[in-house]
Amino acid sequence: MKTTTRVAVIGGGVVGCSVLYHLTKLGWSDVMLIERSELTSGSTWHAAGGFHTLNGDTNMAALQGYTIKLYRELEEITGMSCGLHHVGGVTLAEDQERFDMLKAERAKHRFMGLETEIVSPEEIAKIAPVTNIDGIVGGLYDPLDGHLDPSGTTHAYAKAARMGGATIETHCKVVETNQRPDGSWDVVTNKGTVHAEHIVNAGGLWAREVGAMAGVYFPLHPMEHQYIVTDEVPEIAAIIDAGGEHPHVMDPAGESYLRQEGRGLCIGFYEQPCKPWAVDGTPWDFGHELLPDDFDKIEDSIAFAYNRFPALERAGVKSVIHGPFTFAPDGNPLVGPVPGMRNYWSACAVMAGFSQGGGVGLMLAQWMVEGECERDTFAMDCARFGYWITPGYTRPKVIENYQKRFSIAYPNEELPAARPFRTTPMYDIFDGMGAVWGAQYGLEVPNYFAEGDEPRYETPSFRRSNAFDATAREVKAVRENVGINEVHNFGKYLVKGTGARAWLDRIMAGRVPQVGRLSLTPMLSPKGRLIGDFTISCLSEEEFQLTASYGSQAYHMRWFLQNMDDGVHLENISDTRTGFQIAGPKAREVLQACTRSDVSDMRFMDVRRLTVGMADCIVQRVSYTGDLGYEIYCDLPSQRALWDSLWSAGQEHSMKPFGMRAMMSLRLDKFFGSWLSEFSPDYTAAETGLDRFISFRKDVDFIGRTAAEAERDAGPSRKLCAFEVDADDADVTAYEPIWLDGAVVGFCTSGGYSHHAQKSVALGFVPVERAQEGLEVEIEILGSRRRARLITSPLFDADGARMRG
Ligand SMILES: Cc1cc2nc3c(=O)[nH]c(=O)nc-3n(C[C@H](O)[C@H](O)[C@H](O)COP(=O)(O)OP(=O)(O)OC[C@H]3O[C@@H](n4cnc5c(N)ncnc54)[C@H](O)[C@@H]3O)c2cc1C
Repeated sequence: MKTTTRVAVIGGGVVGCSVLYHLTKLGWSDVMLIERSELTSGSTWHAAGGFHTLNGDTNMAALQGYTIKLYRELEEITGMSCGLHHVGGVTLAEDQERFDMLKAERAKHRFMGLETEIVSPEEIAKIAPVTNIDGIVGGLYDPLDGHLDPSGTTHAYAKAARMGGATIETHCKVVETNQRPDGSWDVVTNKGTVHAEHIVNAGGLWAREVGAMAGVYFPLHPMEHQYIVTDEVPEIAAIIDAGGEHPHVMDPAGESYLRQEGRGLCIGFYEQPCKPWAVDGTPWDFGHELLPDDFDKIEDSIAFAYNRFPALERAGVKSVIHGPFTFAPDGNPLVGPVPGMRNYWSACAVMAGFSQGGGVGLMLAQWMVEGECERDTFAMDCARFGYWITPGYTRPKVIENYQKRFSIAYPNEELPAARPFRTTPMYDIFDGMGAVWGAQYGLEVPNYFAEGDEPRYETPSFRRSNAFDATAREVKAVRENVGINEVHNFGKYLVKGTGARAWLDRIMAGRVPQVGRLSLTPMLSPKGRLIGDFTISCLSEEEFQLTASYGSQAYHMRWFLQNMDDGVHLENISDTRTGFQIAGPKAREVLQACTRSDVSDMRFMDVRRLTVGMADCIVQRVSYTGDLGYEIYCDLPSQRALWDSLWSAGQEHSMKPFGMRAMMSLRLDKFFGSWLSEFSPDYTAAETGLDRFISFRKDVDFIGRTAAEAERDAGPSRKLCAFEVDADDADVTAYEPIWLDGAVVGFCTSGGYSHHAQKSVALGFVPVERAQEGLEVEIEILGSRRRARLITSPLFDADGARMRG
């Protein structure tokens, strides 16, 4: 056995083999895969082998499209068969809501280059004749859907990797992973020790155990899953004899997926009475066996399926496949460099290895070989969960995800499992004031405040929800008087030390402010992609506070630590520094009433230490609402006292609390972008307008400088713009196509209703040469093309007089 390698991939399921192949494809040939048994000995061998592109996350859908298109390439390279059946697939809509969702998906597919199609019930009956179309409103047809041979495909990846120079060691169990001081790893196996520069954990069902060898908790959990294969079905046999194949049918109402298998059918279920498996760890002697049949838990699903696919009831059961596979709390894979670790990479929790395995392999290999991925991978980045994640949280979330696998995913939906979990000292006060809660990165955050007999629950919807009136009320309070909400859900970092300024200058593209001032800055990757959107507060020459997205803490900390300098002390203070923001024309008066210091001379973008009420605070004059506003930070134990001061001073100014729904409406008035919508690694500073905050004048070779300069010289090809939309009762959420002269020329990044201007607003990209005030376009919302006009003048405080005044 080889004893040194650049990369040791642990696990020879479809995911590990895909990672291995992609590493060789990108030029790393000194790579090795270690498998404790034969290849495919985890979930992979018993998978149903189905693949599809549909995914609520657009980048995940694109990677699924990549995976599916890759199989032909694999067959060509290796001469092996993946057993491909590109039979197409139709997802059924049993009601208008589901149909709306499918239409929204179809719209997104337009600019992703995926040729899906909305079909009528009659067309479904023709395409998929085993379907009883009673009650069906329509469907989405995807010609790329199909199925393959799981074992053949895994071996094809393996052969392609070997052809690229990789080694595969089977019957070799990793028992320890020990890091050397230089960051490389001793991978101890039953056949000896391999010294590897990098480790990839692709341990699938055993990923938790493999992670524990290095002291890492991977938030994933195995679930039991069952599908049934029938004897011959005459309707299918007739199609085959006529030279055809029956397509896949996804029936979300019945939580089932169905496809042809041999001359019969195969149907699997995501049943509600689902069961987590191996709660305390996956046994090492598991692998080639199945779980006992369990018809009880799928009894209701089967009854439903008999009605939707009557041929099933007449068919005998040939075999039942019941096995476990793993999920992360949100159902997406866990990929990337593991936060807090050196040279340790994750390729775990891939619940749809045959739809996603190729994309996961490609992204991870790009990350390892080229330093960054070609697209935003946040939806599957293992850094999307924080230090707070535990098995106790993961398990109920995984169960919820399994149960909701086929549920409609609404843009405003808040999922209830494992909540409330993390709360701030304000939880009971806000709850008593009618807060309707959302969750961000495990933290309870008020979305809005219900009053009187308004329900304490926001109806999930693609259209304007029942939060509309409350949001309007809160926006009005901010614009006319003063509103208050927490700043707890900002990511916050303290940077101290003699090297602090120089480090910030190198890591941030923008200007580092002088003492007492703030600056806004993008953070760029070496290739010039946006990897952060920060406010820097200079508290003293050697002390800075950074604020950014709360949900990106692990992502940002990972980057900071990878790029650390001597003489810098960095601390994530997101959960220890809290406070409030107050915004609106009366904000100054409220603040002044709470402090003996004179705040009348505090300019826009100033920062000061002030005593507010009894609390020692950092106060900065800035607000994401675009209004006159202050962010007031204190430590956690002072938060309630600070609240008492601000709230009581606010009473004579009709102060109201406001939540995230109002915040997102208010920022639209000023066309302010938001992290992971307008600003993400999918985009550059020049495309989004954040280049105005890049300091090309500073004499520092900041990360991403070369790429940013090249883009400055060449100019971006697309530009982020704002649109006023003639919407009906549904606003833009994200990724709606923008039509111009009968063609899709761009897409939306986010949108919503500006309660202040009483207009529907969208932000989105169009080709730079078309980005002119007044450009008339159409934006496709839920399948209907709405007229929209490009606007350049903010809908509130266009000259900034209020914000800066
Ligand atoms: C019933 C069922 C039906 C399914 N149907 C589909 C489907 O239709 N389409 C689809 O896309 N997905 C399907 N899946 C899911 C699919 O099986 C998984 O997404 C996929 O197999 C995950 O692959 P993996 O490589 O991540 O993990 P695994 O297949 O679990 O592979 C992990 C490998 O790591 C090895 N390993 C672990 N620890 C060590 C160690 N210490 N040393 C050495 N080796 C180690 C294991 O032996 C194993 O071979 C289904 C799953 C089930 C249970």
